[in-house]
Amino acid sequence: MFFQWGFLLLTMPPIKTDAFVLDKINFRETSVILTLFTREFGKIKGVLKGVRSQKSKIPPLTFSEGSYIYLFVYKRKTGLNLFTSPTLIDFLNFEKKSEFRVFLWILKLIDLFVPENQIEEKIFSLIFGSKEVLKYTKKPYLVFLGFKIKFIETLGYGIKTDICSKCNSNKKIYFFNPKMGGVICGECGKREFDCIKISGKINSIIRFIKRIDLKDIEILKIKKSECEKINFLCNLVLYYHTSFDLIWWENEKYIFRKDY
Ligand SMILES: [Zn+2]
Repeated sequence: MFFQWGFLLLTMPPIKTDAFVLDKINFRETSVILTLFTREFGKIKGVLKGVRSQKSKIPPLTFSEGSYIYLFVYKRKTGLNLFTSPTLIDFLNFEKKSEFRVFLWILKLIDLFVPENQIEEKIFSLIFGSKEVLKYTKKPYLVFLGFKIKFIETLGYGIKTDICSKCNSNKKIYFFNPKMGGVICGECGKREFDCIKISGKINSIIRFIKRIDLKDIEILKIKKSECEKINFLCNLVLYYHTSFDLIWWENEKYIFRKDY
């Protein structure tokens, strides 16, 4: 019986999938450990052997953070998976580097907040869509914000904007509550701690971004400072749902400042 199972494992065929490289760590003399977001399996980690040796014919770009690749995955139940034969499909290489940096930030959020081995077709589409829009956009900060709002929704953390998240009434909205993942009315706001005052305009912008497709997000005409404010609210929601000690959002402010 044991022999048969071992035989099965050895002969299980690899699965070809497309994937985004979220993270790369050099491993031993010539290998790398990659964290990928794949279409087939969601987020997975694995070893890609021998690609850093001088004899390797695989270009380093193929296993660099931010690359979009094809590869074969030998899936394992425990421990690291085995990756082989990667080929590069697409890589964002801009003259202006800000779009690429925004894309790396997006991938970093995926790596931080998405658990391994959870198939998430919606998240894959969101990364893919962000990459395509970043190719032509003049407003990468807006793409980042759009991504983040849609990402939070996909994770199931909010963000509610139409009615009060506490009493479900459609009374006028005055506050935002990260714990409830949405806006709340003036009356509920009086009884709730941890509320942040928001304007009707900020609420409308969030609502608009939720409804619009990422590829059309450029039509939104708002200031970078307003984007930064909404990004802050988004971070509070993500912060509430995680127990990370690290300050993962620290450098995000540069996305919304001049000359980034
Ligand atoms: Zn209320």
